[in-house]
Amino acid sequence: MKTAAHPLFFTSLFLLGLFFAACTPKGRQAMNDDQIQENQTAMEKKDPVNESGYFVNSAGDTIYYVNKSDEEWRRELSEEQYRILRHAGTERAFTGMYYDNHDKGIYRCAGCGLPLFSSDAKYDSGSGWPSYYKPIDEKHIVEVPDDSYGMKRIELRCARCGGHLGHVFPDGPKPTGLRYCINSASLSFEKKKEGESEE
Ligand SMILES: [Zn+2]
Repeated sequence: MKTAAHPLFFTSLFLLGLFFAACTPKGRQAMNDDQIQENQTAMEKKDPVNESGYFVNSAGDTIYYVNKSDEEWRRELSEEQYRILRHAGTERAFTGMYYDNHDKGIYRCAGCGLPLFSSDAKYDSGSGWPSYYKPIDEKHIVEVPDDSYGMKRIELRCARCGGHLGHVFPDGPKPTGLRYCINSASLSFEKKKEGESEE
């Protein structure tokens, strides 16, 4: 019985190796336990459900957390938004509203309206999901280690309402090399008005 376990064990190792080859970030090394712990501690500090009630973004603005009950979210969001934002769902590739949107404007969190991405940082990744190489403000997005489905990924959540947005991968274009892969359902697009400046 003991030896029977070995082939399985090595197969698991091999599959694990394949996975890391495919998904381990180049710029961001896979995190060890200490780093994950550190990241989680940082997360708790930034977590919407903390005591301070707000955080300060890169521009120095005070952003108040949005905390609502599951029932409130269910009432306010569409079924698809609720499933994705509040229960970390994923929309099917090439089905969302924004993966092929080339209009200029701002993408806000569909849960709370916090500005998350600019069309200036949007690019065609071919993935079928809206993709950006950087957020409007890194402090508007919280990164959480995500080991679901046997994968090591970095989940992205809205820093104000905690809504699930998508994941970030290390295969994006310059200058960051990052791909913020976001569900359309997590976003609300605000088209830039004619005559408005680029910034
Ligand atoms: Zn939000």
